[in-house]
Amino acid sequence: MSGSALFNTFARAPLSFDHGEGSWLVTPGGQRFLDFAGGIAVNSLGHGHPHLVAALTEQAAKLWHVSNLYEVPGQSRLAERLAEASFADKAFFTNSGAEAIECAIKTARRYHFAKGHPERYRIITIEGAFHGRTLATIAAGGQPKYIEGFGPKVEGFDQIAYADLDKIEEMVTPETAAIMMEPVQGEGGIRPVPAATMRKLREICDSHSMLLVLDEIQCGIGRTGKLFAHEWSGIKPDIMAIAKGIGGGFPMGACLATEEAAAGMVPGTHGTTFGGNPLAMAVGNAVLDVVLEEGFLDEVQRKALLLKQGLASVLDEYSAVFEEVRGEGLMLGLKCRVPNTAVNAALRDQNLLTAPAGDNVVRLLPPLNVSDDDIRVAIDAIRAAATGLAEDAAGAA
Ligand SMILES: *Cc1c(COP(=O)(O)O)cnc(C)c1O
Repeated sequence: MSGSALFNTFARAPLSFDHGEGSWLVTPGGQRFLDFAGGIAVNSLGHGHPHLVAALTEQAAKLWHVSNLYEVPGQSRLAERLAEASFADKAFFTNSGAEAIECAIKTARRYHFAKGHPERYRIITIEGAFHGRTLATIAAGGQPKYIEGFGPKVEGFDQIAYADLDKIEEMVTPETAAIMMEPVQGEGGIRPVPAATMRKLREICDSHSMLLVLDEIQCGIGRTGKLFAHEWSGIKPDIMAIAKGIGGGFPMGACLATEEAAAGMVPGTHGTTFGGNPLAMAVGNAVLDVVLEEGFLDEVQRKALLLKQGLASVLDEYSAVFEEVRGEGLMLGLKCRVPNTAVNAALRDQNLLTAPAGDNVVRLLPPLNVSDDDIRVAIDAIRAAATGLAEDAAGAA
């Protein structure tokens, strides 16, 4: 046996942590790292947030799990609050993002089935998309590196090149059920879809009686400075998957839908053992308590501007290392001119944690409640890392 008893599926950094404090992670030896990876956009309120800790520990002392054979009051409450704050009327709770997308795909297909159109099951997705790692969600994401070697690709997904988005209507056939997309591609490299394109996609869905399915697993729950990223374009989806940030670190997700779009999901069509369990619901409700507080999202936008301005000044100085800053709110990407993995490692050497993404981008996903001081610490760390990387680049040239 080589190395550890774990599957070799992850390229892990040689680093582990003992505990977290707000935006910081602390190793067993007491070394402190500023966490701008945020468990990949999961730790929306940082580590050890007192309100979340209290919600989880109070619930842990009362009741962990009952299954969906019974009513779970925390589920009804969270569903009502999400509906109140969004386009949705209905919610189905899951344990992960991929499961929320699976539910979204099934809901879209069942919608047409229930309307007497079982032939309408195909879904158009977008190049660079990431929708999860189950068999259906890798087919939806369409990335060959995730699909290869896992048997026949799940049928029913048609992918359009990112550059051809304006020609998406040509891909619609009588079998098309929906368009599914991330308003801001996360794994694909922090690529926000322009508001005008979002509005166009909505129009196309309306004119062909198709559903618009959004994947806001990474960009939702305040990440872009609005509760949901699609709000920036003024449109509304029919179905939306969320996960990551809504649990603040506790595994959970949800598929949200309008009453009409969810009409086909009648008793017996879908289920889950763990989804919507009392622990997850307690934490999800606690995250919403904070994110929906008056002024919280305005603060996210203000902090995002501070971070973006700092990054812009580093970019001006180090154009040999960085090409551009992109993204919305506290979901920012540094497009690199040197390998993003080298940048990620150099930042780690400066005790700043970030997350690589596609298109040679390094992602910055700080907690939504990051302090101004910690933003300044991050910018200084990025500048220090860039100095070293620029010297290396000059040496290599
Ligand atoms: C992370 C992510 C997923 C998958 O979520 P898991 O919880 O890993 O299953 C799907 N879509 C997007 C946009 C994501 O960022």
